[in-house]
Amino acid sequence: MNEYDVIVVGSGAAGMTAALTAAHHGLRAVLIEKAPHFGGSTARSGGGVWLPNNDVLLSEGVPDTLEGAHAYLAHITGDDVDDELRVAFLDNSPAVLRFVLDNTPLRLRWVTGYADYYPEAPGGLPRGRSLEPRPLNAAVLGDELANLAPPYLKAPTGMTVTQADYRWMNLMARHPRGFLRAAKVAGRRVTSLILRRRLLSMGQALSAGLRAGLSTADVPVWLSTPLTNLVVENDRVVGVEIIRDGKPETLRATRGVLLASGGFEHNERMRKEYQQAPIGTEWTVGAVENTGDGIEAGMRLGAAVAFMDDAWWGPSIVLPRGPYFCLAERSLPGCILVNQRGQRFVNEAAPYVDAVHAMYDTNSVPAWLIADQTYRNRYIFAGLGPRQPFPGRWYKSGAVHRAPTLEALADEIDMPADALRDTVSTFNGFAESGVDSDFHRGDSAYDRYYGDPRNRPNPNLAPLLRAPFYAIKIVPGDLGTKGGLRTDTSARVLKEDGSVIEGLYAAGNASAPVMGRTYAGPGATLGPAMVFGYLAALDMAGANK
Ligand SMILES: Cc1cc2nc3c(=O)[nH]c(=O)nc-3n(C[C@H](O)[C@H](O)[C@H](O)COP(=O)(O)OP(=O)(O)OC[C@H]3O[C@@H](n4cnc5c(N)ncnc54)[C@H](O)[C@@H]3O)c2cc1C
Repeated sequence: MNEYDVIVVGSGAAGMTAALTAAHHGLRAVLIEKAPHFGGSTARSGGGVWLPNNDVLLSEGVPDTLEGAHAYLAHITGDDVDDELRVAFLDNSPAVLRFVLDNTPLRLRWVTGYADYYPEAPGGLPRGRSLEPRPLNAAVLGDELANLAPPYLKAPTGMTVTQADYRWMNLMARHPRGFLRAAKVAGRRVTSLILRRRLLSMGQALSAGLRAGLSTADVPVWLSTPLTNLVVENDRVVGVEIIRDGKPETLRATRGVLLASGGFEHNERMRKEYQQAPIGTEWTVGAVENTGDGIEAGMRLGAAVAFMDDAWWGPSIVLPRGPYFCLAERSLPGCILVNQRGQRFVNEAAPYVDAVHAMYDTNSVPAWLIADQTYRNRYIFAGLGPRQPFPGRWYKSGAVHRAPTLEALADEIDMPADALRDTVSTFNGFAESGVDSDFHRGDSAYDRYYGDPRNRPNPNLAPLLRAPFYAIKIVPGDLGTKGGLRTDTSARVLKEDGSVIEGLYAAGNASAPVMGRTYAGPGATLGPAMVFGYLAALDMAGANK
């Protein structure tokens, strides 16, 4: 058959949620995927989803409301985003979660205390409103398990680590809860060995759960099948050109085509054309197949785009094995971020998108994370245990430098030594008083989530005193790009004049984000990707009229 009702391009959260929704509304859906595996960046991700006011949150007593979530999102996204898009996202978030729970083996839980990224803003929740998948038995996928895209980071020795585990395991050398959490993760591994089961977590669980739902709903998923172009008749998108089994083919869609083909993080030309220098494809941790194919196909039909200069940024380290996206590393006490001039330029614990905006805005690329030995003795760093020395190849590649004094460290990295010394001395004073008068690190509940509760008086501030000192090179990495095709509340792709391209839909990172230039909280890319995928399918089914 070469005709379906709905063709979905891309097997990330947006695409799989859409295909599942279409199938459950009686439509014949097919999902085509360029990679030889399914899952895209979604499978690489932390699997956190930000879907405000959902049943799981409410059942756990989280004080969320639609009004609160709306006030929050409106406050942080401002005029960058149409209010009707925010409303469409928020109104449908609870229904999307319900639909996914009803039609897949996926189970999610509240990530307790993982704050919204601006928890002090109106409607923000300091204890957070993010969910993550509960560990999922890989057996639900059957033979399809072999086709699941690999995670971004593999936990050592086959352990299953959740987001909630990660937070506490960082503190395993510091806090009884950290130690207990590490023991719990080890225990989970032993149980799995005994039961001969494999447990998936984070984005692996999210992707596997959605894919299992597609299997149950009999939705075909064609791997190694890239979209090459859209087919238009009478001003309407009626199908796609694809390569299948190495040959060009045309597929027709009676209801519509959804572009859920991710961002353009791995397209060097697009990155240079739309984004601020220095930029390239080497700092992203997004899926390699995300080269903006869907965005460009839409643009060829006159679609409007927005936020192309932006990304789901995050300060990252270029390790020999590839880029490492820093989370807790920046927030934990005993480190600072400085630019080449030896000056701090941002609250190190700030939300990751903001931290990179600050890097570009203050001419701070590359930046350096400066830390002392106490910091290394206390915390996990980029997967290394407390006290574990940095591997020699990290030094050899220039990712990390070490020196017995701050002055010698500054010399190593061509930084004015007096500037670095002054910066550290000022910061050490802040650490003593517990107040970062320059950048307010530790003021926000979000900063403190990845802080060290045993570090007083401020869980994010400790002086850098103990030699040797380290400098780790920081670049503007990202989880993927966020700019894409402009869409309406049904995820229909729009032209510059606001008119609809009939038959064409976009969701996820192929579309311009409802988050605008910001990032509401953990899961704020996956949540909207799922919601707008769902809304696209409802529209194609004629179910949201
Ligand atoms: C390490 C990491 C951690 C992250 N953690 C989180 C988190 O916890 N919470 C959160 O909200 N976000 C997180 N993100 C970001 C999030 O994963 C992405 O924003 C999200 O997965 C985008 O979903 P998507 O469906 O748009 O695209 P993707 O999941 O990337 O899927 C797009 C798919 O389209 C396919 N494709 C591309 N071109 C074509 C073509 N021509 N034809 C057919 N198929 C094509 C790709 O191969 C890919 O499989 C993380 C990302 C990474 C990398």
